[in-house]
Amino acid sequence: MQTITLRITDRKWLTKDVFEMVIEPSEPVSAKPGQFSMFLLPSGLKRSYSIAWAREWSLGYIIKKLEGWKGSTELSELPIGSEFRSMPPLGHFTLTDGDVARYFIGTGTGFAPLYFQILSALSRGDRSEMLLVFWVRSMQDVFYREELSLLEKAYPNFCTHYYLSREDNPGYERGYVTDTITETLTGVYKEYYLCGSPAMVKDARARLSEAGVEPGQIRFEQY
Ligand SMILES: Cc1cc2nc3c(=O)[nH]c(=O)nc-3n(C[C@H](O)[C@H](O)[C@H](O)COP(=O)(O)OP(=O)(O)OC[C@H]3O[C@@H](n4cnc5c(N)ncnc54)[C@H](O)[C@@H]3O)c2cc1C
Repeated sequence: MQTITLRITDRKWLTKDVFEMVIEPSEPVSAKPGQFSMFLLPSGLKRSYSIAWAREWSLGYIIKKLEGWKGSTELSELPIGSEFRSMPPLGHFTLTDGDVARYFIGTGTGFAPLYFQILSALSRGDRSEMLLVFWVRSMQDVFYREELSLLEKAYPNFCTHYYLSREDNPGYERGYVTDTITETLTGVYKEYYLCGSPAMVKDARARLSEAGVEPGQIRFEQY
């Protein structure tokens, strides 16, 4: 498969260990909401990152970096203006066509492909109910609050529920995202998009199945 050149045009830290990186591709890139890029880093490492948003000449990524993690550390340290190669957008965790009520569950940076999907559905005029359940550990791990609140104001059919697993805070629910899956909700939402840790995805799929959701209604990506 042909590769493309990407140039880093911006980077900012969203939390102490999550940063947003903006890149400009050398040629127009067609990305479906939910797809990821496989970066061929200058060190020779290959790492995949979900596309969080796509504009005409830029793509955004949301990346977690911890002490000792090689690829994400390299990406956090490459100077602005650096170039590297990438595969064109890949993956089948994509938004379906059509207007249906959708339920999104994301943990940590698993938020990234869901954000791309939500933005795309809203901007193409889908006014069906959309609920994002966004789980992080504590307040210091919350990001994109402002962006999501602007979307909620602009689109009354879209709503975010924040969950903190390790801290109590007003405006945030305490608990695990999978606790939100009830039979009442599964009567409303027709499609389920899950992205995050393998443990969360496994639990959420099991809960959805217990609540009567068919496998064909569930899409997921785990990392
Ligand atoms: C389709 C796809 C999309 C992805 N999208 C994103 C994204 O949008 N944002 C993002 O930050 N990451 C994403 N990832 C994960 C990413 O590809 C890397 O695995 C991650 O950045 C760690 O790589 P690294 O080189 O920094 O760390 P490494 O040096 O490879 O790993 C460091 C250590 O941490 C462990 N580890 C790796 N990833 C995780 C994790 N997520 N949680 C806990 N332990 C882990 C490894 O097993 C290893 O022991 C995605 C992965 C896939 C397959």
